[in-house]
Amino acid sequence: MVREFDFYIVPTPIGNLSDITLRALEILKRVDYIACEDTRTTQKLLNHYNIQTKCISYHKYNEHERVELFLSYLSEGKKVALVSDAGTPMICDPGAVIIEELISNGYTVTALPGACAVTTFLSRIPREGEEFTFIGFMPRSEKQISELASLYAKNNLIFYESPERILSTLKTIKKTRGNVKIALARELSKLFEEVVVNDLDFVLKYYSNGIKGEIVCMIYPSKTSDDNDIEIKIRNLKIKGFKDKEIAVILSTLYDINKNNVYQVALNTDV
Ligand code: SAM
Repeated sequence: MVREFDFYIVPTPIGNLSDITLRALEILKRVDYIACEDTRTTQKLLNHYNIQTKCISYHKYNEHERVELFLSYLSEGKKVALVSDAGTPMICDPGAVIIEELISNGYTVTALPGACAVTTFLSRIPREGEEFTFIGFMPRSEKQISELASLYAKNNLIFYESPERILSTLKTIKKTRGNVKIALARELSKLFEEVVVNDLDFVLKYYSNGIKGEIVCMIYPSKTSDDNDIEIKIRNLKIKGFKDKEIAVILSTLYDINKNNVYQVALNTDV
């Protein structure tokens, strides 16, 4: 038996037209209306799968007026599906306004699992641990980029960015975080899919002639220190004439590490 809902949130492909579930196709066929961000974009998908359902635009500039229309359809017992141009609705796409109204008006809503750039990216890149912070699109101002990059310095920080801005965004991140490791994916599930995992210097050099396509990026957590790194810093400070105890105080304060451990390493580090 299949459970019926009034409203379905339906993910669509992020590049490869085949990345849509059987259930999504079945629901897009079965509902009375499809609310879509851009009717022309969705129509291409519907034509591909020979789906005749009527599309009605629902985007960030008309969401409030469209909510009334869809509520009136639902009150007549019609079923509606929401799609965005690509991927999962409400992941950096419209939907929040209507969902709130539907819930407060007592309609039943369900979301189908499906394509999404951030989850596809997460399952493709090497990663330690399960935690990540996804901030949607990176803001444009240098100040906000720097603030976010330092606020989430200990997290896997994931963001969407346009090809026009990504290189300047990465340069700003480098000013705040140094030459950190990042993962950058473009055109996931498309012909020119590419994933680069390396430090910022490498990635900036690799794309020095520019970058095209749709992009999702992750900054790996900055390591507070590693043994090798600390030894280099200790050696540099010794060369400058600092004593082992002074070095222990400086490095433990700067990198939030144990003072005695630094002191022990300093004792055993030759210049
Ligand atoms: N709702 C979509 C989702 O589920 O991922 C995201 C919509 S958002 C308006 C579009 C942004 O998602 C693009 O600018 C890009 O940053 C990212 N994106 C979408 N498709 C992508 C793909 N195939 N490869 C890499 N990033 C993609």
